[in-house]
Amino acid sequence: MRSHLTHLECSNCGATSSADQLRTVCPVCGKVLFCRYDLAGAATEMTPSALASRPWDLWRYFEILPVRDPANALTLGEGGTPLLRAPALGRAIGLDRLLVKDEGMNPTGSFKARGLGMAVSRAKELGATSVAIPSAGNAGSAMAAYAARAAIPAWVFMPADAPVVMKAECVEYGARVFLVDGLINDAGRVVREAGPAHGWFDVSTLKEPYRAEGKKTMGLELAEQLGWRLPAAIVYPTGGGTGIVGMWKAFAELETMGLIGPERPKMIVVQAEGCAPIVRAFDAGERHAEPWRDASTGAPGLRVPVAIGDYLILDAVRQSGGTALTVTEAELMEGVRLAATHEGMFVSPEAGATFVATRTLRESGFLRQDDEVVIFSTGSGMKHTDLTDVGQLPVLDPNAPDLASTIAATPA
Ligand SMILES: *Cc1c(COP(=O)(O)O)cnc(C)c1O
Ligand SMILES: [Zn+2]
Repeated sequence: MRSHLTHLECSNCGATSSADQLRTVCPVCGKVLFCRYDLAGAATEMTPSALASRPWDLWRYFEILPVRDPANALTLGEGGTPLLRAPALGRAIGLDRLLVKDEGMNPTGSFKARGLGMAVSRAKELGATSVAIPSAGNAGSAMAAYAARAAIPAWVFMPADAPVVMKAECVEYGARVFLVDGLINDAGRVVREAGPAHGWFDVSTLKEPYRAEGKKTMGLELAEQLGWRLPAAIVYPTGGGTGIVGMWKAFAELETMGLIGPERPKMIVVQAEGCAPIVRAFDAGERHAEPWRDASTGAPGLRVPVAIGDYLILDAVRQSGGTALTVTEAELMEGVRLAATHEGMFVSPEAGATFVATRTLRESGFLRQDDEVVIFSTGSGMKHTDLTDVGQLPVLDPNAPDLASTIAATPA
């Protein structure tokens, strides 16, 4: 397998640059750089029949990934996540074909492993000697894991109130962890200011061209799992937007390679009521989102007040005929419960937001009963045990008499 990477291209001004130098943002306009490939060449090698004999992880799409040497692909088994049917929840909310892409199955418990596995692999291949990230939590833990595997130092900057599991993971992977009194964008400022003196390669969301390539594999896998076609709608919990942006790019590349047609799913952005810059810009008909003030939500991955890729997210939503909506904090936790009780899936609060938003969109008629809908469950609920109140659970004395009637008399 070899990569057909040819160059980098700015998603905003179109300026091109060499693919084999470590890059961050566009040197001309400061916007998002994309990896570009010889897709015709890639199509002759990444055929459905060639894929059939490859392992079920994200490196199976090597021809359209940016790592040059397969030996440099750091892997913990990322990608290849199941596309699960959710018939009981589908029945409850009125969707005949509801599917869940379970990204919580990734190493480090979230889809962030795809992007950071790719970014750390490519950065090390191009000579990076250390990596740094501002993170709400999951991205930091994923970066720290792959940096450990790459044997390069990792520097993680998180809001002080990031979930404890994610802090613990970073510490165990050997990263240097700093808590920042602020949000992810404040942590980003720390990395920008201190980075040059330390020589860190900054893998902030969409501020380098490699992470989105890892995220794009969600779209490639989805198409392959559905037999080289796409669903009617994709519901995605959106923070910095790498997932939506990466998948939208994947679909364009698959079409150019002749693997899918021109049909696209409606791309649906879900944000929290307490931090919804993309929803506000969508509603206002704008292509750039104003920074959100006083962002607050219990879904850390959605607490992103400003996104450099805002125009890319909004373009994908509009071009696909999708929409953008918010959920309240209570709804987001209700969504976690919906997934858990109907389908046995313990999902993160970000993912919970998409489950409940899907119900809302069905009720409003935006989604039709026979639409095939794919929810991206971006992370595992097991990283968020602090959100569930287990303090009120009844406690039994195993030696007490008549345990059966005590249990029968205990209210649920
Ligand atoms: C980071 C994160 C998000 C937001 O992802 P983007 O693709 O960057 O918008 C959603 N869910 C979880 C669990 C996350 O960790
Ligand atoms: Zn540019």
